[in-house]
This record gives sequence, structure tokens and C-alpha cells, in this order.
Amino acid sequence: MHVAVVLFTSDLRLHDHPPLSAAVRSNSFVVPLFVRDAGISAVGFDAPNRRAFLADCLQDLDQGLRKRGGRLILRTGEVVEQVCKVVADAEADEVHMAAGASAYARAREERLRRALEREGTRLYVHEAVTTALAPGAVTPSGSDHFAVFTAYFRRWSQRDIRTTLAAPRTVQVPLGTHSEKLPERKDVTGVSPGLASGGEEEGRRALASWWGNGIAQYAERHDGLAADATSRLSAHLHFGTLAAAELVHRARSTGGEGAEAYVRQLCWRDFHHQVLAARPLTAVADYRTRGDRWRSEGAAEEDLQAWKEGRTGYPLVDAAMRQLRHEGWMHNRGRLITASFLTKTLYIDWRVGARYFLEWLVDGDVANNQLNWQWIAGTGTDTRPNRVLNPVRQGLRYDAEGAYVRRWVPELEGLEGSGVHQPWKLPEARRALCDYPDPVVGLAEGLERFRLGRGLK
Ligand code: FAD
Repeated sequence: MHVAVVLFTSDLRLHDHPPLSAAVRSNSFVVPLFVRDAGISAVGFDAPNRRAFLADCLQDLDQGLRKRGGRLILRTGEVVEQVCKVVADAEADEVHMAAGASAYARAREERLRRALEREGTRLYVHEAVTTALAPGAVTPSGSDHFAVFTAYFRRWSQRDIRTTLAAPRTVQVPLGTHSEKLPERKDVTGVSPGLASGGEEEGRRALASWWGNGIAQYAERHDGLAADATSRLSAHLHFGTLAAAELVHRARSTGGEGAEAYVRQLCWRDFHHQVLAARPLTAVADYRTRGDRWRSEGAAEEDLQAWKEGRTGYPLVDAAMRQLRHEGWMHNRGRLITASFLTKTLYIDWRVGARYFLEWLVDGDVANNQLNWQWIAGTGTDTRPNRVLNPVRQGLRYDAEGAYVRRWVPELEGLEGSGVHQPWKLPEARRALCDYPDPVVGLAEGLERFRLGRGLK
């Protein structure tokens, strides 16, 4: 009788799950285990929105396993210690888990491997579970990762993505394996009121419902803020309730311009993961330092507070920041504009903004968040590091009718059309009726400060 433990991390699904499929194939019994990692709580990474979404995911994973004759085993504490305890109790022969990209995930994997080896238990780490292609699967000559997206995309597109796996039909858990009570979303406080639901079943439902119209129109509609036409599946990808590999296959078999554009975005996700895997310190340090002398004191504190609360006086920035707090999610175009505004117009360190995003984003992810922040701050892989997104021009282009701003900034809902992007141009008497702040800084002044700080003149 062979027993395996499957340690779930950012892969909370039963479909297309290589570690689970491998464990079921070669063992009579499997312990599907999730450890609420004390290390992740200690660094504050378990923000309320992600904790609530995770509770949904764990409940749903348990339900899915029960339908197959099993159940989810939950433990809390130091991961290596907990896995070793479960292995000893279940007399398991092997442990399966997905490879991670961050320094934290890799160190955890290594500690686990050493601890299990001491007990004669083998650890199988499966690649390409959380990404479509494993970090390092393609590299340019002379380097361990790609620093330019277009070159990565070309090579990534030429490689086969592993085939998709069906969910196992049965999962037999050894009798008497103890589990803690699973968390419930209702017990988490401080959650965004508009937060989406988590879980694999919900992920597959959302995928099917968006795919119908969404994928065909994705290329022309994904940048429009008011259209809200993107998949909104990022949290499912982050928690692994949907597999990136499955989405790539599905898009490729659907075909067309929309599917191609969608695959390109999934490739951005893999791109950032391979940068992080090769340069783990980019989670906290500049990938390419520009000698910035970021503002941090005095007025910078007040500007930061205005940015966080969505009252900078720039309607598009404020709308997006309010969406973040309300939904725990923000449209990609909103993320680009608010991040550019913080780092280039207010000239505040990207790490400060990235930390704030991680407090709220349900899809908050070290690879995607930190490296997108670095990209926009010009300290990352962007080939045009000093570009600045003008929030007014961006508004006129991506929210031409102003509907997105009116949705999130009710103080301006009485303003018609694109005029909503520049309330300071209104006659004084009309403006006074809006109860909306003046811009925290002029765009020209902000640009000047950025250029000086970065030593561009
Ligand atoms: P869709 O447009 O439907 O795209 C499909 C999928 O591709 C997404 O679900 C996502 O997994 C991936 N994707 C899309 N754009 C990017 C991108 N630029 N980089 C990496 N992957 C991408 N994404 C996260 O998943 N977690 C984060 O913490 C995160 N932080 C970000 C911070 C900043 C400053 C910026 C500019 C972007 C960030 N992104 C992050 C990327 C992107 O904004 C989101 O993935 C996207 O908005 C999610 O919405 P969607 O699922 O509807 O995307």
C-alpha cells in the first residue's frame, strides 16, 4: 500500500493538476494537504481580500475532493514541520508539489527536500503547474532569463505547452487523517465589498461565461476602461483555481485575433515569473537601478495618502484607486496609470505603491505586481524607462465618454462626456458644485521633479 502527500500551494484545483495526477497514478492513498503558512502571515502577505478568496478556494477544493471520495486536510504552522508530521502520521512514501518562482517558495522547497530526505521520503517538484511554461524553460544564449518581453514571447510561442490533464476520478485519503476546520470567508474582516468569489468551480464558471463573447472581442476591447471587457480571471490564475497551461491550449484552439492577444497577456505572466525566478531580489530591489532620489517626506506623505484614498484631483487616477479598494481588483489600464502617476508624477518609490497594491489586490502576486511596478517605474524591463503616462490623455483615449470615471467618482457624475477628465477647466461656479479636490500637483511640475530626481537634466 503506497501513500503520497500532495502539498497544495498556489494550485488550488483538481483539473490539470500534475502533482495530484502523478500521486494518484502511483499510490493507493493520497493526502491532499494545504498548510496555512505561518511564514506568509508573518510578512503580512495574507491580506484580507486574498484571505477571503483563499477561504472560498479551500472550501471548494474540499468539496471537489469529497465528490471523489476524499477530502482536504488543513494544517497551520511552519510548512516543513507540518508536512513532515503528516508524512509521519500517514506513513507516506512520497510528497508531490508544484514548483514556485519566488525566493520564498524556492527556499521552502529546498528546506522541505532536505527534511524529507532525512526521513527517506522523496519530494517530487512539478514544473509548469502555476505557469504555462516553467521559468528557465527558454533562455537566451548567455543568460538565465529573458529581459525583453518580445524576444521571450517569440521563443515561448515556439515551445510546446504541456498537455492538459483531467481531474482524477477518485482520491482515497487514509482513514483517520486529522484536519483542522477549514476557514470561511464570512470570518474574514476588512474585505472589499465588491470582492469576487473564489474556488475552482467558480473559476470554471467565470471562464466559460466570459469566453463566449469575451475572447473574440478581447483584442479590440481589453484596453477600454468602461468596457470592462477583460477576463477578470487573474485571481483564479494567482490561486491556481485555473491553470495557465489550460487557458493557453483553449485560446489556441479557439483561434482568432482575440485569442492571440489573450495568449500574449498570459505570456506576460510567464515572463515576469521567469524574471523573478532568475532574479529573486527584484521583489524588493531595482532590476536596473536609475539612481532615483525618491520623495518620501513632508508633502510626499500627503500626496501618497491622497493617491491611496483616490483624491489626487485627477479623475482617472482616483477612479482606479477607488475601484481597487471596492473590488480588490483594478483594470490593467488603471494599474498602469495609477502606478505611473505615483512613480513619475508624484515621484514616490515604486516599492511603496507595490506594497499598497498588495494590501488590496485579490490577485496580488509577487512576480506580477513587483515586476509590473518596476516596468512602469522604469527600473525594470521596460525599454523606455522614462516614459510618463499622462492621466488626462489616457482618460480621453481609454475612457473617451468618461463612463468609468463617473462609475467610481460620484462627485463627478453630473459632468457629461469627456469633460469629466478635466474638472479644473469648468467655470468656477460649476466646479464648486462638484466637491472634488484640485490636482495635488500640476503635470508639468510633476514631470520636472521626476526628471530632476532621476538626473535627466
Ligand atoms: P486579462 O486582460 O484578461 O489578461 C489575462 C491574464 O493575463 C490575466 O488574468 C493575467 O494573469 C495575465 N496578465 C495580463 N496582463 C498582465 C501583465 N501586465 N503582467 C502579468 N500578467 C498579466 N497581475 C496579477 O495577476 N497580479 C498582480 O499583483 C498584478 N499587479 C500589477 C501591478 C501593476 C502596477 C500593473 C501595471 C499590472 C499588474 N498586474 C498584476 C497585471 C495585470 O494588470 C492583471 O493581471 C490584469 O489586470 C488582471 O485582469 P484580467 O484577469 O481581467 O486580465
